Amino acid sequence: MLRRSLEPRIRGKRIETVRVWSSALREPVNGQILRRRLMGRRVLGADRRAKYLLLHVEGGSTLVVHLGMSGQLTLVGKAEPRQAHEHVGFFLTSGERLRFRDPRRFGLVFALPTARLLTDRHFRHLGVEPLGPSFSGQVLAARAEGRRGPVKNYLMDARVAVGVGNIYASEALFDAGIHPRRSVGRISAASWQRLARSVRHTLGQAIEQGGTTLNDFTDGSGNEGYFQVSLEVYGRSGKDCSRCCAVIRKIVQAGRSTYYCPRCQR
Ligand SMILES: [Zn+2]
Repeated sequence: MLRRSLEPRIRGKRIETVRVWSSALREPVNGQILRRRLMGRRVLGADRRAKYLLLHVEGGSTLVVHLGMSGQLTLVGKAEPRQAHEHVGFFLTSGERLRFRDPRRFGLVFALPTARLLTDRHFRHLGVEPLGPSFSGQVLAARAEGRRGPVKNYLMDARVAVGVGNIYASEALFDAGIHPRRSVGRISAASWQRLARSVRHTLGQAIEQGGTTLNDFTDGSGNEGYFQVSLEVYGRSGKDCSRCCAVIRKIVQAGRSTYYCPRCQR
């Protein structure tokens, strides 16, 4: 709601300077970094991730605002005096000011390189849309850092990617030639890239063939009803692999059936 109402009013405007009147929010506000990343830059657009509002600016930086329990972000006119609990002011060359107010101080205000958004500690536990622009082998690899466990379970973890259901996970791993039990700590950069491509390919094909909308695949519930066509491994245990003629196997991982080819997937 905030994003939708704010974006048309702020897009294209330039940030002249940033003032931090009080830095004591949930995490200390760093005025120096805010100014370095935002000053003189035009706002390219607004985005939302979970409860974070993201304002992307020129030069590859993003301003992140979390409203906490009582925060407000409003665009006010030049003559508007500083209010009680107004902790940060983003002054625009238009004469307006983006005002951050937060009586209870549970909010967050910081800026970072846009490219770091997915791996930043505030965001890395939030799943990525597999068909969105930020999904990649690098993201899969970065989020697997320090983790263990089979790649199939990892792929279905909603904190990693949103909407890679059980069927898609099996099919994508077959397409990428990766064994479903392979530990995420033992996957090369090249394999992560292949896997990211395979996930996109599998979901894309499912959409094409099923003629359904993207939304059906991103509800995060791992629904198994949609994708009935052209399955290479799923539901085919005991049958021949279409690539190598080995016999497809079925195992159970985290309570879900996984199908794979023991010869194609290592
Ligand atoms: Zn095979």
